[in-house]
Parts: sequence; structure tokens; C-alpha cells
Amino acid sequence: MRLLIKGATIVDETGAVARRNVLIQGDKVMAIVDHDLEPNDDDHVIEAQGAVLMPGLIDVHVHFREPGFEDKETIATGSRAAARGGFTTVLAMPNLNPVPVKATLLRQQLRRNEESGLIHVKQYGAISANLTAETVSPIEELAAAGAIGFTNDGKGVQSAATMLAAMKAAKAVNRPLVAHLEDQSLMNGGVMNMGERADQLGLPGADPLAETSQLARDLVLAQATGVHYHVAHLSTKVGVELVRVAKTMGVHVTAEVSPHHLLLDETDIQSATQTNLKMNPPLRTPADREAVIAGLLDGTIDMVATDHAPHSVADKRGDFRTAAFGITGLETCFPLLYTHFIESGLATLAQLQQWLVKAPASAFDLDAPTVLKVGMKADLAMFDISHRHTINANEFASKAVNSPFVGQTVTGMTVLTMVDGEIVYDATTDNTGGHDDNE
Ligand SMILES: [Zn+2]
Repeated sequence: MRLLIKGATIVDETGAVARRNVLIQGDKVMAIVDHDLEPNDDDHVIEAQGAVLMPGLIDVHVHFREPGFEDKETIATGSRAAARGGFTTVLAMPNLNPVPVKATLLRQQLRRNEESGLIHVKQYGAISANLTAETVSPIEELAAAGAIGFTNDGKGVQSAATMLAAMKAAKAVNRPLVAHLEDQSLMNGGVMNMGERADQLGLPGADPLAETSQLARDLVLAQATGVHYHVAHLSTKVGVELVRVAKTMGVHVTAEVSPHHLLLDETDIQSATQTNLKMNPPLRTPADREAVIAGLLDGTIDMVATDHAPHSVADKRGDFRTAAFGITGLETCFPLLYTHFIESGLATLAQLQQWLVKAPASAFDLDAPTVLKVGMKADLAMFDISHRHTINANEFASKAVNSPFVGQTVTGMTVLTMVDGEIVYDATTDNTGGHDDNE
């Protein structure tokens, strides 16, 4: 069977936006034309009516929680959430139980991802055992087993010697080293950003120097080793400035920012019970938020990654002192960015495709399509950009509902997601949400 998508809005190879008819056969895009295509009798025809068709989105930072924390999310539910968000490739973090720190565990994890994943789920290996050990894991073996890169995400690498050894090993196997920046000695048990807001709420604040001082250290180490160093969830103004300088110095550095650090700051926290505003790194100051936006727009920050961090309702109960860090992101990313960056006129559709497809694919050397063209693998996502709706937790395909964006009215909704030519999400038959029994 062939699939004919009529009247889709696409960003072509030159970055221009055009209206096209797109024919998909098997796992490939066979034709992209501006004239009418006569469908065969058994063709599946979809009237796009101007919906945006893109190569499937790529998220280099997700937590799928399986094995170890299946009450929060599983590979099946996480990848359903990804498909519902228009993502066809994700890179999964290793803060699992067991942590994939040996080749056998990494191979098992890749098998799980393959068996249960509705989309392509790549896997990071851990830099060190328990994400905290000072001895670096067998990076060469993990790379040979298929690790897409290395990170202790969730924990900062405390020792410079450990980071240096990890970078040398990652450089030797030509894989990226992804850093969660957190100097434990500067955290003060913080549950939000240190400063006036934390004081007003009477909550312990984490010093932003915990992020920036470790970033400065790492950039120097990255220059010395030549490794591809990737900064996870960059959140500070000083951090953006450091990455900007490092790039001019020729350091091989890339950086991601999360939608929540682009769209929210600590002044949004009105009460200690708003636990869906608790994440790590925390929401920073309005000046930090402006700086990460500017950094994304000028290319200092390369891409957007959601840091999809599902938690059970019980884990997010209580207040900032006790609730878990993190929020979900896969199902809200496209509409939030579309609404606040494209519809508002801050950026173009081509830039959005750069942040969510091209930059992650090229930085992580992924075999995913990055531009809509004939012959590309049919990993595709289509978004209705005329659709205004209110984000509703009951509709989430994720097991979790911990999103601060629930209740916001946004533009843009995934209508179709395809992986290798197979439809993995179709809004017209979507019945994935099942949260009516949640409180
Ligand atoms: Zn994370």
C-alpha cells in the first residue's frame, strides 16, 4: 500500500516553505511534487490541508524509567508519548536500575528498547557505576555494544580526574560525552534556584555556580581532550556565555535547552506546593531565561531537548521539599515551541526543524532523516498548526501527568507520526490517554 499526503506544508532543502503532495511507499518517501498525483485504488490518501510535514522529531534527552521505575513510565508508554509528540528518535538516559554500565547490561537494554519501543530508542551508557563512582565504566566495550554516548545524567561528575578520564575514553571511541552539571558542594540541599524567590518561599536554594563552575571546568577539559562535549539542559546566563566563548576557542561543544527553561522562570513559582515547577536544574531568573532564548536564537545553544522526566502522582505529591525533581515534555514540546517561537514571530519553521531534527541528528551522528526529500526514510511527523487546544493531562499517552503546562492553550497538534513507513500515531484514532482515574 502507498500513502499519499496531499497539501502538506514542508520546509524544503533550501529552507523555503512550500505546499507539496508527498507519496510514501514502503519505508521511503517516493515523490514530493507541487502538482496533483493520481492515487491508485488502494492508496491511503490523507488530506493534510496545510498541516506541517517534517522529518520525525529527535529528542536527545528522555527518561523512560524501565527497568527499575516502571510505576513512573515504561519504554512502551514513553515511546507512545514520543510518537504522540511527533518524535521518531529519542536518546534514553541510563539512570535505570540496573544502570547500563557494562556491555551485557547495555545490550539487554537495547533489546528492551527495540522490543517495546514504538519509535527508535537509542541508549546512553553511564560514565560510571551508580552514576556516582569515580572509576570510569568500560567505555570502549559499551560503545562496541551500541551506546550512543555517555552520561551520568541526574548526577554531576564531581571529580575532574573522573571527567578527564571519561572524556579521553569517549574521544577514543568517537562518541559524545553528555554532562549533567551539578557540583554537589554548591547545592546546599537546594530544591529551587538560590535567591530572593527561594528566600520568600522559605525554601533551600541551589547556587547556580553549581552548574557554571562545573561547566567552566569541563570546557577546559574538553579542549584538552578534543572530545565532543554536550551540555545537557543549559539553564544559566553565565553558562550560555561560557559555551559561546568555548565555541570561538574551537572547543567541540554542543548544548541543549529544555522547553521549560525557555518558557518559565522562578517567578512562576508562587507557592511551594506547585511541585510541577520543581526540576533539576531548577527554573532560574528571568535574566537567565532571556539568555537561553537569545542563545538558542543565535545558535550558541544548538538544540531543544525535553528532559522528559515522568513521575507518579505520589512522587510529585507534597511540596518542593519532598517532591521528586522533573517534568514530562515529549507531548507538549512541539505545540509549546510552535506557539511561543513560531506563531509569535520569534523564529521560523526552518529554525524549529533545525532545533528538533537537524542539530540533534548531526551532533549525535544519527542515521535519521533531517530534511524532507525524495528517497528519505519515512520517519515523519505531521502537525496541524491551525489547531488551538488546551493541554489536557487526561489525553497524555505517558503514564505520568507531571507537567506545569497542563491547562495552557497552545497552537499545533500532532496528527500523524510514522516510523520506517509505519503509522505509529494517528490523531484520528487516538485513544491512548487513560488518565481519567488520576487525581
Ligand atoms: Zn535528565
